[in-house]
Amino acid sequence: MTTLAATPIPERIAALRSTFLSGRTKDLAWRRRQLERLIALMRENEERIFEALTLDMGKPREEAYGAEIGTVVGETEYTLKRLHKWAKPEKVRTNLINLPGSSMIQREPLGVVLVIAPWNYPIQLALLPVMGALAAGNCVVLKPSEITTHSAALMAELLPNYLDPQAVTVVEGGVAETTELLEQRFDHVFFTGSTRVGQIVMQAAAKHLTPVTLELGGKSPTLVDEDVDLEVAARRIAWGKFFNCGQTCLAPDYVLVHGRREQELVDALKAAVESFYGEDPQTSKDFARIVSAQHHQRLVSLIEGQTVVCGGVHDAATRYLAPTILRDVDPGSPIMQEEIFGPILPVLRVESMDEAIEFVRARPRPLGLYVFSRNKAVIERALNGISAGGVSVNDTMAHFTVPELPFGGVGQSGMGAYHGKHSFETFSHRKAVIKKATFVDPALRYPPYSGLKWLRRLIG
Ligand code: NAD
Repeated sequence: MTTLAATPIPERIAALRSTFLSGRTKDLAWRRRQLERLIALMRENEERIFEALTLDMGKPREEAYGAEIGTVVGETEYTLKRLHKWAKPEKVRTNLINLPGSSMIQREPLGVVLVIAPWNYPIQLALLPVMGALAAGNCVVLKPSEITTHSAALMAELLPNYLDPQAVTVVEGGVAETTELLEQRFDHVFFTGSTRVGQIVMQAAAKHLTPVTLELGGKSPTLVDEDVDLEVAARRIAWGKFFNCGQTCLAPDYVLVHGRREQELVDALKAAVESFYGEDPQTSKDFARIVSAQHHQRLVSLIEGQTVVCGGVHDAATRYLAPTILRDVDPGSPIMQEEIFGPILPVLRVESMDEAIEFVRARPRPLGLYVFSRNKAVIERALNGISAGGVSVNDTMAHFTVPELPFGGVGQSGMGAYHGKHSFETFSHRKAVIKKATFVDPALRYPPYSGLKWLRRLIG
């Protein structure tokens, strides 16, 4: 079989469409085989993946394993175990007017889907949606981020060697290539990235009436009540914030802490940072780097004029920015207007948890929300009062790791969701099917009609 890599984009998509129309991707054995091969790809190329992620952004091995290799392998194994059950037609009740008959929901693949990935978890955020699409029986075009060049090149090399090259293709490139891709007709576009580009993607998809899943970003708030164990809270917040050097869509963006515990929390956060990365985080093997010079410069400028209580040290040559904690941050300052997406944690003081809830409610709906409290009433008020993509209570980012939970945003943080069965559903059409018998055919439904009496009885 030939690979499609050198062929122009429209022809590559036409080739995938013809594979899809051949029907072979619908076969459960074919789907299972793709998933098994994806696991083999990850296992057999672990070292190369580590290397690409180190070159791209100095990603620590444990973080690369936990959030990239392990996540893809774990979700794929989870899906393999359950795929047979998910793909079965789902019998549903048939109403009186359709008896004798039987009804079911049949999951069918959507067709040829486009996956556009970001750079912050360049392997996981590319391959998890690809896996979901294949599990559901689709053909896939993957467009990795052009910013993480080593990871993109590795996927472009490996995917055709492991997966069916007539059903999966990788298109490398940036804005120009993505724009050309978006001019084509797909059956679904799955985009992970910024809200700004999400709008561009949705507009382009609308021309073909193509449905979209948008996994976007935003500012995920962390609320810290006065009654919590601050040492644990600080460790969990600092871990969520400084993992991957803060370049995580779900990272706690800022903290709203009860005024009575502000000083203690700041001290505990400083202690957590030191216990994670030592006195000089620049020498720690466990702290990643900023992905590009442009992002580095943007982050450094966000610190200017702020009260730095920890970190603040930076080095453009190695794209290093220390884990940085700010206090007395003005809610009107630039750092509170945009998603930080880097290792800077503003701590803001509130006088009550209700004030914190109101603060969040007044802003766009976030992708993640973190509430640290022992008070059930406060937790309930936050859960009921704040709309967010997902919530972890007394932790950060934990809800992401439960495959049973849908992962996705709401409002400006995105639309649609995936992970576990939700990925399978995202890439499947739920086809409504009713099968009827012909041995009964009441005259009642046909003209000439005989009034409303029977209709009222049968329909309601
Ligand atoms: P981005 O929006 O700049 O880029 C994402 C993808 O879109 C890339 O593949 C890029 O090549 C492409 N792209 C960029 N500009 C384009 C244009 N004008 N037209 C068409 N395509 C274009 O995002 P990023 O910088 O790679 O990632 C960071 C953002 O992604 C953050 O906002 C973050 O919160 C978000 N994110 C969200 C999730 C999630 O799961 N919700 C996960 C990771 C990142």
